Amino acid sequence: MNRNEKPKLAIVIPCYNEELCIENTVKRLFEVLNDLISKNKILADSYIYLVDDGSKDSTWDIIANLHNENTLVKGAKFIRNFGNQKALLAGLEGVRDLGCDCVVTIDADLQQDENVIENFVDEYMLGNDIVFGVRNDRKTDSFFKKTTALMFYKTMNILGAKIQVNHSDYRLVSKKVLDIMHLYPEKSFFLRGFFNELGLKTSHVKFDVKPRIAGCSKFSFTSLMSLALNGITSYSIVPLRIVAVIGFFMAVFAFIMGLDIIFEKVFFHNSPAGWATETILLCAFGGIQLFCLGIIGEYVGQLYREVKARPRYIKDIELK
Ligand code: UDP
Ligand code: MG
Repeated sequence: MNRNEKPKLAIVIPCYNEELCIENTVKRLFEVLNDLISKNKILADSYIYLVDDGSKDSTWDIIANLHNENTLVKGAKFIRNFGNQKALLAGLEGVRDLGCDCVVTIDADLQQDENVIENFVDEYMLGNDIVFGVRNDRKTDSFFKKTTALMFYKTMNILGAKIQVNHSDYRLVSKKVLDIMHLYPEKSFFLRGFFNELGLKTSHVKFDVKPRIAGCSKFSFTSLMSLALNGITSYSIVPLRIVAVIGFFMAVFAFIMGLDIIFEKVFFHNSPAGWATETILLCAFGGIQLFCLGIIGEYVGQLYREVKARPRYIKDIELK
């Protein structure tokens, strides 16, 4: 069903060491907001909410100055770096508390084309609760990032954890989604999996990715790996089943081998020779077992984090 009331829009930006980008980004996003206000598409008290994820540079000072000049710039500062997913989460929870009808999340480097925010709002007015920004191509990505991203989407889909391909956290969600999100107590919350399993009215908007305006990527190989592993262990138990199936077939194989050895010994008095075969099999099975233990370990780790129930993030200061 279409919506009639124009919304109060919040824009959430996670920032980690973004002193080179942030001022420019906020300025540009206000141009977008003002354009939408003049087109009568959003309310005039729509605002920007920046989450400083424990930056070590002057990012927070810049945010505080921008807030002093204009209170439509709001934000929070973490006591330390909790990672981009936690910063996004804090932003979404922050704007839910401050009040808004819908919220767009976008990166501080404006790599995602900010002009399509208007299309996001149009889709929201058509009654969509989630609007995914989907990138047209991966031209600006390195070969490494392209390949690992493709592997990630493929693996997730094979494992049954369906996530939107070529969508990274550039999206609009409605207040209703924020309220549902509030019901999820998970500590290692995987946003992309969550938005995909909701089943609310969803649409997509295509956009182009630009090169970073300044600075460099804040993601390392290990942080990308840990994001991917969290995604898998949060939304799929297929790896555990694969482990069980491998274990079952290994046991059957060992049983048949055992029978064969007894058979040869009893009927042909012929003990099988060849320590090489034995060593290879030992190593192969040892490897498979350790790999399977590792997979189980990932899930135990996930449980460990959830059971300890430590705060997802800790805010130091908040500017409302
Ligand atoms: N970011 C964050 N915490 C981190 C790493 C990144 O809040 O620990 C933010 C970063 O400031 C940016 C967004 O997450 O706004 C995406 O990061 P980046 O542009 O470095 O990632 P890439 O575009 O290379 O995937
Ligand atoms: Mg970027």
